[in-house]
Amino acid sequence: MVNPFESAQRQLHLAAKGGDFSNELIDRLSRAEREITVTIPLTMDDGSTRFFEGYRVQHSGLRGPYKGGIRFHPEADLDEVRALALWMTMKTAVADIAMGGGKGGVVVDPDILSSGELERLSRGFVRALYRNLGPEVDVPAPDVNTTPEIMSWMSDEYAKLTGDTSGASFTGKPVDQGGSEGRGAATGQGGYYVFEALKEKLNLPRSVSVAVQGMGNVGGNAARTFVSHGHKVVAMSDSKDAIYNEDGLDPEAVEKYKAEHRSLKGFPDVQMFTNAELLELSVDVLIPAALENQLTEENAERVQAKMVLELANGPTTPEADEILRKRGIKVVPDILANAGGVVVSTLEWEQNKKNEHWSEEVVLERLKETLIPQANVIYKNAEESGVTMRIVAFRLALKRLANALEKVV
Ligand code: GLU
Repeated sequence: MVNPFESAQRQLHLAAKGGDFSNELIDRLSRAEREITVTIPLTMDDGSTRFFEGYRVQHSGLRGPYKGGIRFHPEADLDEVRALALWMTMKTAVADIAMGGGKGGVVVDPDILSSGELERLSRGFVRALYRNLGPEVDVPAPDVNTTPEIMSWMSDEYAKLTGDTSGASFTGKPVDQGGSEGRGAATGQGGYYVFEALKEKLNLPRSVSVAVQGMGNVGGNAARTFVSHGHKVVAMSDSKDAIYNEDGLDPEAVEKYKAEHRSLKGFPDVQMFTNAELLELSVDVLIPAALENQLTEENAERVQAKMVLELANGPTTPEADEILRKRGIKVVPDILANAGGVVVSTLEWEQNKKNEHWSEEVVLERLKETLIPQANVIYKNAEESGVTMRIVAFRLALKRLANALEKVV
C-alpha cells in the first residue's frame, strides 16, 4: 500500500528540487506544525459506550488559519490525514486565499451509526478539540462522508462551548444555517471552471466524454455540472461498481437509483464494470472523485483518457504521475482542480464574520475569478518548463509560502 503522506512529501521534494527554495521552508513543510490525536467517547443507542479515534493535523498556518475538512472513514489514519493537511496548505496557496492547511479524520464507518449516534460523535469531535479550533485558529469543513448537517452540529457545539455564534468556526454548513450559496456544488463547479480554462489548450472536442469515479458530493456534482454544459458522462461509479453507457448517463437518475437501491447493480441499459475498471475506459476526461491512490504504477499504463481532472485528493501516486507524463496524458492536480471547495468555504467564513449572505451569482463569480487565472498560469508554466502541472502548482504555492515565511522570521 502506498502511504499517502510519503507521496505528498515526495511531491513536495520533487517540486522543491528544481526551484529556488530555502531548506528551511521545505523542512518546515515536510512536517505538520501540530498534530492532535483524541479519543471520542460515544454513547450508543443501546446505552453502551464505544470509543473512536479522531485526528486534527494543523499542517501550516503561515498564510492564515488552518483550513481543511474532516473525514469520517473506517480506514482513516494519521498518515492519511497528514497528507491531506499538507495538500490543503498547497491548495490554499495555489488559490491564493489567506488560509493555511489542516485536516481532520475520525476512524469510523458512519453507515453503521444511527443519526443520533452520528450527531453525538460529531459533537464529541468538537468537545475533544474545540480549544484548538476557531475562526482565527482552525476552520474545519466537510470531506469524505461528512455532510452540511454534520457541520451544523459541529458549529452549534462550538457555539455552546465557546459562546462564538458567528458560525465562522466551521464551513460547509446548510445554507439556512449560515452556509454559503454554492458551497455544496463548489468543488465540482470549480473543477469545471478549471476544465473549461484548459479544454482548448489540450485540444479536447467541444463536447467531451467523461468518466467519474465516486458518487459523493464531489463526484455527483461534477457529473451533473458536466452534463448541464452539454458534455457526456458515460461512466459513473460508487465504491464498488461502475456503470457505462456510451450514449451518456443521466447523473440525476443514477443518483436516485443509488439512493433507492443502495447499489448501482441492476441499473437499466448499461454495461457493468468495477470501480477500478472505470479508470481505464476510453474517454476524453477521467475524473477521480473518491479516495487516494487510484492511479498507480499498476494501472497508469492502461489509462486512456486525455485529461485526468483530480477532484479527489491524492488520487495519483508519484509513480503513476511519471508514467502519465511520459504518455502525454495531462493530469490537472488536485491542489488546483478541487480547490473550489475551500475557496467557497473561505467565502462562507468571510460572510459569517461580516454577518452577510451573498447571492449564488456573487459567490460563483468570485470562485471563477479566483481559479481561472491560476489554472492559466499553471498550464502556461508547465508547457514552458516541460514539467507537470502538479510540480508547477507546488512551486507556485511554495513561492507564496516563502513570501509568508519571510514575514514571520
Ligand atoms: N475537504 C475539502 C478539500 O479537501 C474542502 C476543505 C474546506 O472547505 O475547507 O479541499
